[in-house]
Amino acid sequence: MTELIGKSIGELSKLLKDKQVKAREIAEAHLRHLQTVDDKLGAFNSPTPDLALKQADKIDQMVAAGTKLPPLAGIPVALKDNICVADYRTTCSSKILENFVPPYTATAANKLFDAGAVCVGKANMDEFAMGSSNENSAFKIARNPWNTDRVPGGSSGGPAISVSAGASVISLGSDTGGSIRLPASFCGVVGMKPTYGVVSRFGLVAYASSLDQIGPFGRTVEDVATTLNVISGHDNKDSTSYNNSLPDFVSELQKGVKGLRMAVIKELIGEGIDPEVRQAVLNAIAVIKDLGATVTEVSMPVLKHSLPVYYLIATAEACANLARYDGVKYGYRAEDANDILSMYFATRSKGFGSEVKRRIMLGTYALSSGYYDAYYGKAQQVRRLIKDEFDKEFKNFDILISPVSPSVAFGVGEKTEDPLTMYLTDIATIPVNLAGLPGISVPCGFGKGNMPIGLQLVGAPLGDATILRAAHAYEQATEWHKARPALLNGVSSSK
Ligand code: GLN
Repeated sequence: MTELIGKSIGELSKLLKDKQVKAREIAEAHLRHLQTVDDKLGAFNSPTPDLALKQADKIDQMVAAGTKLPPLAGIPVALKDNICVADYRTTCSSKILENFVPPYTATAANKLFDAGAVCVGKANMDEFAMGSSNENSAFKIARNPWNTDRVPGGSSGGPAISVSAGASVISLGSDTGGSIRLPASFCGVVGMKPTYGVVSRFGLVAYASSLDQIGPFGRTVEDVATTLNVISGHDNKDSTSYNNSLPDFVSELQKGVKGLRMAVIKELIGEGIDPEVRQAVLNAIAVIKDLGATVTEVSMPVLKHSLPVYYLIATAEACANLARYDGVKYGYRAEDANDILSMYFATRSKGFGSEVKRRIMLGTYALSSGYYDAYYGKAQQVRRLIKDEFDKEFKNFDILISPVSPSVAFGVGEKTEDPLTMYLTDIATIPVNLAGLPGISVPCGFGKGNMPIGLQLVGAPLGDATILRAAHAYEQATEWHKARPALLNGVSSSK
């Protein structure tokens, strides 16, 4: 039988249309493969084989009836476990939601299913999307497919692994401060955070609502653009979703980078960035210049405030959003309490992990009377300065460039005792969320231990098509995306 693992959307669609393979065979091959890689990598909280086979059979009926196939017909997808699917467990990798079965499906997931995608499982993540390494799950840590002693990055570790290791062709994650781009970069795949509002968040369990955004992972930029075409657009159920027409992200890919004005952000390429990462980004810039874009350097000193601003705003919003988990309405409830107040205390003490509790305490402090103006209020003001600075630069440039992360994937356990060092991993991704901009991570080389490095391209608001086409042009001019983790030796490459 044709090897079905590691193929692109286009390749699988063609096999399906030409009746060389059935959607059920594609689903079964991926479900089998998922089990193998999951045993080694911990990428899934709940595989959903019954859902996958039901959806695949529907596609096979359409093929048999000669119905025109939707754009993602038969394509295996994994969903981060904070994206609700009706009647399937959505745990957010938290004990407090361990047995939560939502009665509704997230709009982004619904759109994927309407487009024919086949859901193979709910993927592992840091608890409530708080973390950079996928070590904050209440159930199990996840491991990097390139080296299982390293972290996959977080918080969408599972969705990144799923694509990198071939358990699904595409996946969805959420990105509040880098949670799609960081694991994409650590696992050597493409991951994109769209402009705030481009994808509906209805059915995404909220972490920090002014920053959260759903976005796609894929092995190629084209697969990511195809997925974004499907999941983007206005949704009456999310008042923050963008209420206007969007371009066809796939046809825009052909425009190339000729004439685009780009700049590398000086503060994100200097001190604190590993030399091998810096070199990989500089090499990528040389390629991009060869392709016909101009690349200069900009200085944005205000970005040095991004981390403290993010950790005040994100924790303040998280403490408000997580107030709903009180043991009364749904989720885990501590048994050994004899009045309502001790029930609240016991439920939240036992139900949340230590990083989530740390964030709730930080956020509560930042919002408390007497400190509100000095912390939360001040953070909002500095966030505006960051946004203004980006707006200013985007008058002169179409795309800003930086590494995704200061280093390649670090070792499992290496940073768990030191939250501040862990937080620094997101230094280059967080400003993009604070300003609501689109950002993409695209593979641009390998560093120590043959671990992948990611290049970050950041666009102006609604510049999603621009960063996709630049990423596509760069990808097509390089070979990085063709490399596959050694773990998959024996599975032939699609190229
Ligand atoms: N690592 C960051 C945090 O822990 C970002 C997480 C995210 O984007 N969800 O908050």
